[in-house]
Amino acid sequence: MDTEVIICFEVHAELGTQTKLFCGCRNAPGAAPNSHICPVCTGQPGALPVLNRRAVEYCVKAGLAFNCDINTEARFARKNYFYPDLPKGYQISQYERPFCENGFLEIEGDDGRPYSVGIRRIHLEEDAGKLVHSSEAFDEADYSLVDFNRASVPLIEIVGDHTRNPLRSIREARAYLEKMRQVLRYIGVSECNMEQGQFRCDVNVSIRPQGSAEYGNRSEIKNMASFRFVTEALEYEIDRQSELLRSGKPVIQETRLFDEERRVTLPMRSKEDAPDYRYFPDPDLVQIDLDRETIEAIRKTMPELPDDRLARMVRDVGIPREEAAILTRDRKTSDFFDRCASTCSDTSRLSRWIIKDLFRVLNRDGLTLESCPVRPEDFSGLVDLISQGAVTDQTARTVLDEMVRSGKAPQEILGEKDLGIIGDAQTLEQTVDGVTGEHPEVAAKIRQGRMEAVNFLVGQVMRKTSGRADAGKVRDIILRRLAVPEGREDGE
Ligand code: ZN
Ligand code: MN
Repeated sequence: MDTEVIICFEVHAELGTQTKLFCGCRNAPGAAPNSHICPVCTGQPGALPVLNRRAVEYCVKAGLAFNCDINTEARFARKNYFYPDLPKGYQISQYERPFCENGFLEIEGDDGRPYSVGIRRIHLEEDAGKLVHSSEAFDEADYSLVDFNRASVPLIEIVGDHTRNPLRSIREARAYLEKMRQVLRYIGVSECNMEQGQFRCDVNVSIRPQGSAEYGNRSEIKNMASFRFVTEALEYEIDRQSELLRSGKPVIQETRLFDEERRVTLPMRSKEDAPDYRYFPDPDLVQIDLDRETIEAIRKTMPELPDDRLARMVRDVGIPREEAAILTRDRKTSDFFDRCASTCSDTSRLSRWIIKDLFRVLNRDGLTLESCPVRPEDFSGLVDLISQGAVTDQTARTVLDEMVRSGKAPQEILGEKDLGIIGDAQTLEQTVDGVTGEHPEVAAKIRQGRMEAVNFLVGQVMRKTSGRADAGKVRDIILRRLAVPEGREDGE
């Protein structure tokens, strides 16, 4: 039986606001337990929430980035459930009127074409605290402690739409999550650090016979914070459901957990699986009216999104698509490229030098573009020196090493270290003669017209000059000194 897979995500992203969603406590991931709490975020009787304006802006920004309609009237609702990390006994979330609805995120589909994956809504809500289980923190103790620093940190929940271009494979699922994280980072609303749980997701997956109009029963796998776990959970779940379908057994609609050790999904206890949240409008928070001007003002603060940036680089700057994709993967890199490009006369070389050489040095030294002291104008200056023939590639790499170490400008380093290119004919001729004398057998081959041997001698000259010789000139000199007739250079 041919089947099709339907995958749909609910993604939670923690917003990078200074303070929490309903109080003035700092949003400080990684701080000492319970060092950023107050009566509001610990749910003390009588404490009242005050909405964080910045969090609303960030939610709207996400809505604009994912092509949503922005509702001019929005409400908060109470989602009631009991858990020890939830001091109020309810989570303030949005139900009937979220800030953003009816969006999409474009990815590259499995057929290689653009595919706009439906997003049903994006709403703003508060995070819960965090339980620290004794087995993780304290030897043999049989209790858990709770840290309320995360309680009431703002989250956006981005809910997919399985009825509008759902994801059809694990590859598309992964492309969707990666693109979503990239965009959220670009627009500066969340760092999406997955190890810290700032970007986590629930995934719904179902299978149906190819061409069927009805959806199969879905399972929902809860709370994953790594792309690898999502992939493994989906692989397992697709196999499991396919097997059930093949053998004519029903797939039960249920919530499952991914067991990271055994790499299987397991059903949750049925009580946990059928929550009745008894949503109702939060009486402590008024309706939020967002006027058109406010939404337009937020729209004006939107940066160029990665897809637009990639297209511009290919179209206006002439960068090959694969290179542009690397340069636009994160905003720091694409900003760095743009700033270099504004003063560089050879953007093709610039692109290659960032991707190959700068990234190599940063990787080797454990640096990032931010922690590396190289200024964009100095980097483009170095690339221009190569283009002008003032330094060889090899020398430029030596200069780059020194730029990364000291933050100095390339001209300064060249002046100090005497690294400029050797173009002086007399010096080059002497070096060529020396090398030819050391390798008479190679010289003989060249005289016989075996031109592949020329490269060997050029290499020897480069070694003797620490890569500072102009390779083209060296080649000419070798040919001239060994009296190779014109026209033999192509090596017939
Ligand atoms: Zn607080
Ligand atoms: Mn949620």
